[in-house]
Amino acid sequence: MQEFDIIKTYFEPLSAAPLDNDTASLHVPDGHELVVSTDMLNEGVHFTREMSAAFVAQKALRVNLSDLAASGAAPLAYQLAISLPEVDKAWLAEFAKGLKADQEKYGIALSGGDTTKGPLAMTITIFGTVPKGCAVERSGAREGDVILLSGPIGEAVSKNYNHLPEPQIHMSDIVQQFAHAAIDVSDGLLQDVGHLAEASGLCAKLRIEDIPLYEGGPLTPEQMLVGGEDFQLVMACAPENAAYFEGCTQIGVCAQGQGVELLGVDGIPIEISVPGWDHFRK
Ligand code: ADP
Ligand code: MG
Repeated sequence: MQEFDIIKTYFEPLSAAPLDNDTASLHVPDGHELVVSTDMLNEGVHFTREMSAAFVAQKALRVNLSDLAASGAAPLAYQLAISLPEVDKAWLAEFAKGLKADQEKYGIALSGGDTTKGPLAMTITIFGTVPKGCAVERSGAREGDVILLSGPIGEAVSKNYNHLPEPQIHMSDIVQQFAHAAIDVSDGLLQDVGHLAEASGLCAKLRIEDIPLYEGGPLTPEQMLVGGEDFQLVMACAPENAAYFEGCTQIGVCAQGQGVELLGVDGIPIEISVPGWDHFRK
């Protein structure tokens, strides 16, 4: 099987238009602009060969959808660059099937990509749309904002990352309308809240007893607070708008200062030493 047969057989059915052009043309609705994000998955780092191809495909797409959700964007299309060590038809069929299921679930289609031979890895570049000038950033939090979390933290690390995340894309609209700032929790709650606090020039004061944690796992709260890949959303908004964020929990407030302060049950700050995931930390 050759490169073009792979594209025709497995990838073209995922696309709204034939994959026979040098570029794809994407229609951006009037009054809107594009937001773009890229995430790469490597075998041995983000997934192992024991994981099913459908799982890997869905994880690749979902981590990208999560970035759109954090920006308050609606899904438009995605590009897939994939490097394959060999042509494994069963693996490719399973991979495409996983993508197909999630395309339907989340309302997005493939618009193009690249297929090469090499170590198993894939990169998805995702496109979304927001009303012009309205993409939500990490830097927009204001003093007095409440900090909201979309769901429990710690499931992915508790399951040793053998866990398919649920991107919070259904929240895009509310995020776009009411969040001053947002970030998705990919590298650990404390680290990602830290990014939002730093970008906004504020201190995030969190209360440990208010943070919903995954139940029934083997880990301590501290381990879950620094575990990555939950893909929940953290949002800062005006207190009077918090009620629009249905199902979310207030975990803290934005105050003058910098960094993340984690208050214990007794109100005394807790020291946490490992901030979160970093690919290049020794
Ligand atoms: P070129 O060499 O001109 O860049 P390619 O031969 O790489 O074009 O790709 C041919 C067509 O197939 C293009 O439209 C490209 O977007 C699409 N394509 C290639 N690989 C993939 C893939 N993995 N997923 C989706 N579309 C793909
Ligand atoms: Mg190419």
